[in-house]
Amino acid sequence: MVKPIFIGGEWRQGRGPVRATYFPADGSLNAEIATASAEDVEEAVQAAERAWRAPEWRNRMPHERAAILYRAADLITRRVDELAALQTRDNGKPLAETRGLVLSAAGTARYFAAACETLDEALPSQRSAEFMTLGVHEPLGVIAAITPWNSPIASEMQKIAPALAGGNAVVLKPADATPLAALALAEIFEEAGLPKGLLSVLPGRGSVVGEALATHPLVRKISFTGGTGTGRHLAHIAAEKLIPTSLELGGKSPTIVFEDADIELAAKGVVYGIFSSSGQACIAGSRLFVHASVYDRFMDRLLQLTRGLRVGHPEQPGVHMGPLINEAHLESVAAFVEQAKAQGGEVLCGGERLTDGDLALGTYFAPTIIAGLTNGSSVCQEEIFGPVLVVLKYEDEAGLLAQANDSVFGLAAGIWSENFRRAWRIGRQLEAGTVWINTYKKFSISAPFGGFKESGLGREKGRLGVLEYMQQKSVYLGLSDTPNPWAE
Ligand code: NAD
Repeated sequence: MVKPIFIGGEWRQGRGPVRATYFPADGSLNAEIATASAEDVEEAVQAAERAWRAPEWRNRMPHERAAILYRAADLITRRVDELAALQTRDNGKPLAETRGLVLSAAGTARYFAAACETLDEALPSQRSAEFMTLGVHEPLGVIAAITPWNSPIASEMQKIAPALAGGNAVVLKPADATPLAALALAEIFEEAGLPKGLLSVLPGRGSVVGEALATHPLVRKISFTGGTGTGRHLAHIAAEKLIPTSLELGGKSPTIVFEDADIELAAKGVVYGIFSSSGQACIAGSRLFVHASVYDRFMDRLLQLTRGLRVGHPEQPGVHMGPLINEAHLESVAAFVEQAKAQGGEVLCGGERLTDGDLALGTYFAPTIIAGLTNGSSVCQEEIFGPVLVVLKYEDEAGLLAQANDSVFGLAAGIWSENFRRAWRIGRQLEAGTVWINTYKKFSISAPFGGFKESGLGREKGRLGVLEYMQQKSVYLGLSDTPNPWAE
């Protein structure tokens, strides 16, 4: 059966072409979905515009908006196993990971519900004999939310929750490969009592549905997570329309192992930082700098741990790495490895597709470590978005910093050192929106997240993240009987 989509609060067949999604572990069919068309975008945006302006939403007290988010969080928590399974089938991540993403989505909904309840809508006032001022925050209107395939439910909730908390309406365009979690979120918000039109979910091609949405005159903000090229294109559209954007883009994050690092801790951290999600993470620690004096010792342990990773069916317990999202992506990862070899890189482990037994049915790629290149090589400068780690040996701190910061990206960085003062000093000099010291890929919803340089614009999360979806207004209240100096 062709799955319906959620347009302006109604479940209907989209008017775009029917698209199939597949389980990357074995290529079996997940679902057939009638995607949205440009007319569906028009309808969804018009419904969103009516819905956010409607007095029943505009006049709703913040705690009443929050109640919907709390209910959605409860419904997500209740359905955690089912939603995790759905996401695993969508993008092939192991169940333990997708479970974490589902719970993180519930946590995000709760957090922004609380932020909404406690947000001071009126800012402190100033008063003179003639007037007093008040500042208020108001919604922006219709928000276009556009998301990638690697962590769907979590990245989608990071946009929907603050946008609704701020009194807006959202039209969500999920990634072509992973629309199922977004459609499940639509069901959840419907059941949580969100008024019709405030959320639409429109699967379909970026160049058709995403483009029609971003360029629509009634869309007042584009909130995008995805590749830097697409982000740059959307920033041009936003500049033309003079509307704000939040852009969460790609990365090529450096991780540094100092000579005083706890080698065991660091090796385990580095392995997790690059190979979890099969490297399909914007924050993957994909460039590794190791001090020359500990290089051999560290690399022995790193290779041992990497060779011990369990790559396998993502529904099986204990699997560390599942398949890559699809054939085209696997080919692009394999091409990067070939490029590295052609540039003189030495593949220390992995470097190829895995086809043993049932792995032949899916798109599995071995965890790969490459050495012998410089930071200027293409695998150090471009985002691979796969299980490929490039290792560089360094001698001194100045050279290290210059190389670590020599990247168009600036999303995250990792530091492994037992010398906290040095770790702090280096951390402050790294050009990255997130720095982890003696840990990696840990998240707190209260810590703002976003990129330096071409890794993005704006920040998501954090208590004030809701203000990214609002605009401030100053109101002057006249207190005197003489409205202007001429009236005296
Ligand atoms: P992508 O840029 O190809 O696609 C992202 C979304 O944009 C999809 O929904 C796609 O359909 C849509 N899109 C594509 N062209 C469009 C257009 N012309 N107009 C409007 N929408 C369009 O990215 P992807 O391959 O899905 O995801 C991988 C990328 O996402 C990586 O670069 C990764 O680093 C990045 N990412 C960043 C973060 C972050 O928080 N910084 C998080 C996850 C992923």
